[in-house]
Amino acid sequence: MSLSYEEKFNELKKIRDELLALHNSPLYEYRIENKYFPVVGEGSHNAHIMFIGEAPGKNEAETARPFCGRSGKFLDEMIESIHLNRSDVYITNIVKDRPPENRDPSAEEIAIYAPFLDRQVAIVEPKVIATLGRFSMSYIISKFGITQELKPIGEIHGKEFHAKASYGDVVIVPLYHPAVALYNGTHRDTLIQDFEVLKKYI
Ligand code: URA
Repeated sequence: MSLSYEEKFNELKKIRDELLALHNSPLYEYRIENKYFPVVGEGSHNAHIMFIGEAPGKNEAETARPFCGRSGKFLDEMIESIHLNRSDVYITNIVKDRPPENRDPSAEEIAIYAPFLDRQVAIVEPKVIATLGRFSMSYIISKFGITQELKPIGEIHGKEFHAKASYGDVVIVPLYHPAVALYNGTHRDTLIQDFEVLKKYI
């Protein structure tokens, strides 16, 4: 059964407190040295759509807010293009601390932070999970037991994959990462088009 608003709030707060106290990550020293914060996620606790990116960048780690830099501005524009606001959806990342120089997250880092993401999914219970980039795409497709559907992102972006979550049906939509789209006009147009798929789940 779904959690009440208060229960969701408390469970998400627990995740935030655990992440703040999390020391056993290769990214912990870097967080402390730079006075960074872990980035938990933000948005509606009852969102129908959850966006999952890769890992916080500098702006995000400084403010503790996901997607608040240039790629975030583009993500906001795309969310608005389907007549939603950021506060209507839930936005998070697979890795919650910033990797140095925005390098790709390692398998070890993904393994450390993914259980927090799993809990966020179970708390918010989104109908649709839109993955941003190949790391969250691979993780989410595997997590929901449809690994046979996993292909390069160029082949499966904008497609809808139906899966079963602990709380009911869920649709997974892999999308290009907005940061990649910022530097590649073709990906940019594709990403804008792919967003249209999400409209029917609003
Ligand atoms: N890129 C991501 O994947 N996540 C953020 O929060 C910001 C940039």
